[in-house]
Amino acid sequence: MSEATATVFNHNVVAQRPGARTDAEPPVRHIVVVGGGTAGWMTALLLANSAYGARLKVTVLESPQVGVIGVGEGSTPWLRGFFESLGIEEAEWMPECHATYKAGISFDGWSTRPGHEGYFHAFASMLDNMTMAPFIDNVHARLDRADVYAHPDRFFISARLARDCKAPRPQESFPFDVWYGFHFDSVLLGRFLQKKAVQRGVQHIAGHVVDVQRSETGDIASLTLKDGGTLAGDFYVDCTGFASLLTGKALGTPFVSFKDNLFNDAAVAIQAPHDGAIMPKTISTALRHGWVWKIPLTTRYGYGYVYSSDFCTPENAEKELRGHLGLLDADIPARHLKFRPGRSAQPWNRNCVANGLAQSFIEPLEATTLLFVQRTAEMLVAALEKGDMGEAARKQFNDTLNARVEGTRDYIVTHFKTNTRTDTDYWRANAANTNLSAPLQQLLRTWLASKPITAGIAKGTFGRGYPIMSWYSLLAGVGLFPDHREMRAPTRQEARYSMAEIDTLLDRSAMNFPDHREFLRAIPPKPKPSSLQVYFW
Ligand SMILES: Cc1cc2nc3c(=O)[nH]c(=O)nc-3n(C[C@H](O)[C@H](O)[C@H](O)COP(=O)(O)OP(=O)(O)OC[C@H]3O[C@@H](n4cnc5c(N)ncnc54)[C@H](O)[C@@H]3O)c2cc1C
Repeated sequence: MSEATATVFNHNVVAQRPGARTDAEPPVRHIVVVGGGTAGWMTALLLANSAYGARLKVTVLESPQVGVIGVGEGSTPWLRGFFESLGIEEAEWMPECHATYKAGISFDGWSTRPGHEGYFHAFASMLDNMTMAPFIDNVHARLDRADVYAHPDRFFISARLARDCKAPRPQESFPFDVWYGFHFDSVLLGRFLQKKAVQRGVQHIAGHVVDVQRSETGDIASLTLKDGGTLAGDFYVDCTGFASLLTGKALGTPFVSFKDNLFNDAAVAIQAPHDGAIMPKTISTALRHGWVWKIPLTTRYGYGYVYSSDFCTPENAEKELRGHLGLLDADIPARHLKFRPGRSAQPWNRNCVANGLAQSFIEPLEATTLLFVQRTAEMLVAALEKGDMGEAARKQFNDTLNARVEGTRDYIVTHFKTNTRTDTDYWRANAANTNLSAPLQQLLRTWLASKPITAGIAKGTFGRGYPIMSWYSLLAGVGLFPDHREMRAPTRQEARYSMAEIDTLLDRSAMNFPDHREFLRAIPPKPKPSSLQVYFW
């Protein structure tokens, strides 16, 4: 194993939550979660699962007059850990939410460099221990102008599974786990989580917040509801979506905009019938003023064109999306959405934590919002279980979360910055954008100087939020290499990996994975908890 591979898989194992109960008193007795979207119910479930059990009362307050956003149908592999920590089987939740497996994301049309017009961002697998070193070493050789194969698509089992429409759950005898994510109907997922939370003791109240009362210390004291009633807790979680009623409006927490880094602020979404295939991947295709997602559920596809309103009107975006899908004359409704990329300056402010869209939204390119919902709730549970809700705990919570949101933003920004399209002002402006964070500038400078970025990522100097494999897949995938006309013959050392052997290894390994569509028809129970977690935090 090369040094690069060891770095990825050695120090990055995150301990599973033991789930042990405690007799200690919780530092707060009653937590009110305001908002019944995915963020509200995920938070409530994780709080109800804390070591304090029923001694920590959790209430979800949801407005009967404001609906949920109802988009967000892709996840990262972290969602697998969410369900595992709650003991909820895929065989139970996936069919109820029309869910499918996700082995990664295909990026099509972002680069015009020959041979790099598309690439697959593969989710990690234990098998990568055998193929990461050849990939990284070949990328370094290619950066040094050696003529070796350095495109990510042939190095990872997840890419092979996505190509062959296989479910990323191998037969039990195969010892290499794959770290997969999911696609799901977001409205059905919300309903499922609500059902589970209520079964596990979470109180559900319908009520529309019209005012927030503050105590003398400035903390939130109670919520005034439209029907004249009040609701008080010791601690609050603001899951009110982009409205950010508690943290943003009542507490006046500043918002840090990412608009200078990321231009997209609007989307138009369409649901369309299946053409038969259920690929275990999201497809992200670059269009003229943004990109379109294609997400396969068991019952339909979800599509959405994410674009910048500075460059394109909603009417033109919808027309372009329909044209792209061949649905110009189809009688299928489209939904238009606006969003604001950015984050709360202090996700935990006074006696309130913001979660979900009330806290941060980068943009949906890597489907990361639910990852932050989960991590925020897990970090809150950890602080509660430590019994430490003081200023230092708050600061550490905020610093950790903000750094991770910005690391993830930088990874997403890199997709836009490295594009080579010249067909519209939108793509040219993205390539010319110099509003890059200092760590991202350092990472790109290092790469463009043909130096390894592995050590910098491992140390957290730059590239925080994504593992080494993801950064190499992105930069090599779009072909950010010295000009191919300047390539030289590889040395013997550089030419030591046989792509034919790697192909054979992955082909033979892929035989241990079932057909995706067949597997979804009758998902078997999980034989063992996930054995692989890749470091993000
Ligand atoms: C275009 C787009 C694509 C996305 N794609 C993805 C993706 O692929 N993957 C991903 O992880 N995420 C994605 N997201 C984000 C995802 O949709 C959200 O993170 C997720 O749905 C959680 O939303 P939420 O619960 O924070 O807010 P919402 O769903 O908006 O819920 C807000 C809740 O607050 C309640 N509320 C509001 N006002 C009041 C009030 N006055 N009183 C009481 N209650 C109130 C509402 O009733 C509602 O229950 C996407 C977002 C957008 C905009």
